[in-house]
Amino acid sequence: MTSEGGNEIYRARMERAKAEMARQGVDFLFITPSSDLTYLLGYPAHSSERMTLLCVPREGEPFVVAPTLEANRLDNRRDIVDVHRWEETESPSGLVARLVENAEGASIGVSDQTWAVFLIRMQQELPETTFTSGNSVLRELRMVKDAREIELLREAGARADRAWEQFIVSSRIAGRTERDVAGDIRTLMSDEGLEPGGFLIVGSGSNSASPHHMTSDRVIQQGEAVLFDFGSPYQHYYSDITRTVHVGEPSDEFRRVYDVVLEANRAARAAVRPGVACETIDKAARDVIEQAGYGENFIHRVGHGLGLDGHEEPYMVGGNRLPLVPGMVFSDEPGIYIPGKFGVRTEDILVCTEDGAESFNDATRELIVMQ
Ligand code: ZN
Ligand code: ZN
Ligand code: ZN
Repeated sequence: MTSEGGNEIYRARMERAKAEMARQGVDFLFITPSSDLTYLLGYPAHSSERMTLLCVPREGEPFVVAPTLEANRLDNRRDIVDVHRWEETESPSGLVARLVENAEGASIGVSDQTWAVFLIRMQQELPETTFTSGNSVLRELRMVKDAREIELLREAGARADRAWEQFIVSSRIAGRTERDVAGDIRTLMSDEGLEPGGFLIVGSGSNSASPHHMTSDRVIQQGEAVLFDFGSPYQHYYSDITRTVHVGEPSDEFRRVYDVVLEANRAARAAVRPGVACETIDKAARDVIEQAGYGENFIHRVGHGLGLDGHEEPYMVGGNRLPLVPGMVFSDEPGIYIPGKFGVRTEDILVCTEDGAESFNDATRELIVMQ
């Protein structure tokens, strides 16, 4: 896969990490299998009880400690990292401690998704050091996507759009369970080349009022709203789209709420440009919903960053003064949830450009009536 390709990308990313470490006074980065490892090394390893760890020292050469039975998967990365194998009878944390030079008094940034068990063992092995969140370094790199990452995210969005547009013309949903209907979308995503391992919410009737509803065996009825929120990675980069449909003719109340959410989605998109604070994007959508009288029914932030993770920084939320920079990618997903009745959310993925926002999702946002 392309995102696992050339070593130059990863060498450059590790150099940028080192520069950021120098700026922040971090001496070592410890990265275990996670999106951070995929980002820095192009090695999408799975997490398991056998520790794999990439160490990036601020000065000196990065190395990986990996279990012998998986170490050969790193053969194509030997140009950029030393690979140290550990045998089943050895302690990988002890090996890391022996390889880390001048650790006394050092500050070690650990990736957010490192299992607690590995961190605890490393703390025992390196008692004279300070462990901190490596996210302060990695977020600075990962938040702003490069041209190749943007291309993959755009492609992921286009594929999710096609799956959705195919779904609304080919599926009948009334009388079927949420789980059964979710199967249609899963198949269409797979047909579009999106990888398994994403997420898929189908919330019908009152379930649509629960923003992170767990798709269930509830049977979809005539006269109900149905909310679909789904996404899967394309070459490790996520898509994420939400559309809400109605089965049969919608009520006036549903139409009104649908229009307010759509207006809020547009307002957030229109507010995007470099230098604008993340919280301003949230406020743009929230103002529309509050003025329509539904402020209390918009119970989440308007958006989250997206990339190798489905949710990552930056977050479009009140209190986040971080200014937008071209290349930041995030969701625009206002919603109104009326408990016991229905919920509506419309979600697109946007990238901040020099002069505004480009949407990676372009599937129709008009109200769709399905059968
Ligand atoms: Zn969500
Ligand atoms: Zn979503
Ligand atoms: Zn989302």
